[in-house]
Amino acid sequence: MLHPFKSAQMGRVLPKVIWAILIALLALLAVMAWHTWRLSTLQPPVAARPGAAVDARAAAARLSAAVQLHTIWSEDDRNAKAFEDLHQHLANSFPQAHAALTVQRFGKHALLYTWPGRDTKAQAIALLAHQDVVPIAPGTEKDWQEPPFSGAVKDGYVWGRGAWDDKGNLMAIMEAVEMLLRSGFQPRQTIYLAFGADEEVGGEDGARRIADWLEQQHVRLRFAVDEGLLITHGMVPGVRKPVALIGMAEKGYLTIKLTAHGQPGHTSMPPMRSAIGMVGEAVARLESNQMPPHLTGLPRDMFEAVAPEVEGPTRWLLSNLWLTAPLVTRQLEKAPSANAMLRTTTVATVFNAGERENVLPGVATALVNFRLLPGDRSEAVEQHVRQVLNGLNVEVSHQPQVTEASPVSRSDTPAYQLMARTLRELQPDVVVAPGLLVGGTDSRHFAKVSDATFRFTPMHAAQPDLARFHGTNERLSLDNYVGMIQFYERLMRNTDQL
Ligand SMILES: [Zn+2]
Repeated sequence: MLHPFKSAQMGRVLPKVIWAILIALLALLAVMAWHTWRLSTLQPPVAARPGAAVDARAAAARLSAAVQLHTIWSEDDRNAKAFEDLHQHLANSFPQAHAALTVQRFGKHALLYTWPGRDTKAQAIALLAHQDVVPIAPGTEKDWQEPPFSGAVKDGYVWGRGAWDDKGNLMAIMEAVEMLLRSGFQPRQTIYLAFGADEEVGGEDGARRIADWLEQQHVRLRFAVDEGLLITHGMVPGVRKPVALIGMAEKGYLTIKLTAHGQPGHTSMPPMRSAIGMVGEAVARLESNQMPPHLTGLPRDMFEAVAPEVEGPTRWLLSNLWLTAPLVTRQLEKAPSANAMLRTTTVATVFNAGERENVLPGVATALVNFRLLPGDRSEAVEQHVRQVLNGLNVEVSHQPQVTEASPVSRSDTPAYQLMARTLRELQPDVVVAPGLLVGGTDSRHFAKVSDATFRFTPMHAAQPDLARFHGTNERLSLDNYVGMIQFYERLMRNTDQL
């Protein structure tokens, strides 16, 4: 039983504590409501200006002809003729461009067009695209509604491998240049068109050589635009409007090899630990000790840009990241696509050991692939791996191909605003936000010659479309294609005011 005096004291103190908690909670709710309410759009206000008139049928026919060429890169260059045919097709289709722009060859098939600007002091820009396409996965040819290299123009789409990735961008850029030339336009700043031919295998022969040459010429680009994120529909939770995500950086790439040695021999008197068991434990430890997630930098910029456009309870959460970041992070981690934006990902991809069921292997190896978040250097990740595997008798080494994450382009710059303005002029309801590209593009080679790089394909897409990328039934709608041409046309015009 409580002492009567103490009990009376508690009786007076307890309500005070409850009141204090209640007041604190109310204050917190008020602050959150204030944050949610005062949030106003970060989108630049622009007057709608419809895009230039495009002859969709004629443009689609030219894209179709490009799609029909098997420009699959190979070390033995067995498709050299397809690349030559593509170059010829460009020359035939865009006579004005070929008269006004100079063209240089790099490596086996890469092209660099130079469109000289009126003002030699103005900082140049570059538009990138790649000529090569990925092969058709064996056994899937029959799953295509239209044969993959048919370039069929049907039901409002151009069908085939490369229609989207990346001949759509390449041909749209050329269409825009041709249209601008026909209208008598000459850019203020020099515009480079860089068309690699080996992007899908790393871009060493194309984009790399072009970037090296630009560097030797002391060219410093104001910005470069390359394929990348899209104008997404229904892919950003809570936002009904289309969201154009501009890829401001791309993730890096690192593969760690884990090796364990064991005593080879018969299994009748085995040791307590096998090589396979040790590598298995190493993999398990790495998967359960992932690099930490960060709701900072690019993902945070993205959520801050979209938060004012969000409806419903998500708006409340995104408007108060100062408080809700841990909760939001935990939710995002559950979806692989969002998780990939928040952290350096870890996944085991190859495991090698053993030949026979009654023989102990002398060695077991595993490969673990990491996609590096900007800010996570490869050495730091390797350090993390060693730390997690501390005490295990497993050797750690990295595979030769290591790519650091790209630098992060800034969104508080006139160049980014130019991208946003161009998009919103053409379609005023588009929300523009910075994003992170989890794949790789040719543009990473341009980091050393460009102040900013925007990885963005001006194409509308919803979740179900994504499977067509590098997949079966790749296609591009004529509406999308017209929009892409209009985007590049307007971007080059607007760049005059940069
Ligand atoms: Zn591509």
